[in-house]
Amino acid sequence: KTRKSTLLELSGVSVSFDGFKAINNLSFQIGEPEMRAIIGPNGAGKTTFMDIITGKTKPDEGRVLWGDDGISLLGLSESRIARAGVGRKFQKPTVFEAQTVRENLAMALKAPRGPFDVLFHKKTRAGAEKIEALAAQIGLLEQLPRIAGELSHGQKQWLEIGMLLAQEPRLLLVDEPAAGMTPAEREKTTEMLVEAAKTRAVVVVEHDMEFVRRLNCRVTVLNEGSVLAEGSIDHVTSDPQVIEVYLGR
Ligand code: ADP
Repeated sequence: KTRKSTLLELSGVSVSFDGFKAINNLSFQIGEPEMRAIIGPNGAGKTTFMDIITGKTKPDEGRVLWGDDGISLLGLSESRIARAGVGRKFQKPTVFEAQTVRENLAMALKAPRGPFDVLFHKKTRAGAEKIEALAAQIGLLEQLPRIAGELSHGQKQWLEIGMLLAQEPRLLLVDEPAAGMTPAEREKTTEMLVEAAKTRAVVVVEHDMEFVRRLNCRVTVLNEGSVLAEGSIDHVTSDPQVIEVYLGR
């Protein structure tokens, strides 16, 4: 096993909404590179957890430390955190539907890290090799001239993953990538994420247990805003507390 250095560390993090603790004394670490799956029932705090990392939600308590020097992300804006290397893929694909796949990737390669801005929508011939390498990585080489709006749901998801990878995030947060995909698309998505996680930290929030199993990574189970269990998929799914949380709903 290669040694991984810690990229992100949360400790003792709590967040309340109107007195309700959505995140409760949560501690979490991820290395670089590493793949991690986050599972947990609805309301477990998965979205809030990602919102804390990206700076959208600021915790009431605790520490969020980033990078080799362990700088605190707490005082930083969302855009500053994105520039530091945190990329986020929401569930719904957000690509520029009227542009081609090539234009989408070209734009992402030129844009600074952070939410894609229409200001950066400029046609470009630059970086053709980079665009093609990226397209190959996301299985869309043949689709480069196509209008993004005509892609299948799965292809749009891959395109957005490609656009995020173009920005070379050190940590990529991905929310339910397999939702709405065919089994074949799920398989390709697995390969893509596993490949991406060879050189960076990837956190995948996912409900589909088969998908999580195929990621073949450490799994963190959230429940009531805390870590309920952590380990291999076999370890966490045989944990009596995890079984109770999932079956006892
Ligand atoms: P998950 O993504 O695991 O379903 P969430 O992080 O969305 O969980 O939510 C955790 C809990 O916090 C839920 O009970 C939810 O209703 C509550 N919550 C999340 N965001 C807000 C908010 N902005 N205002 C009030 N309650 C919220």
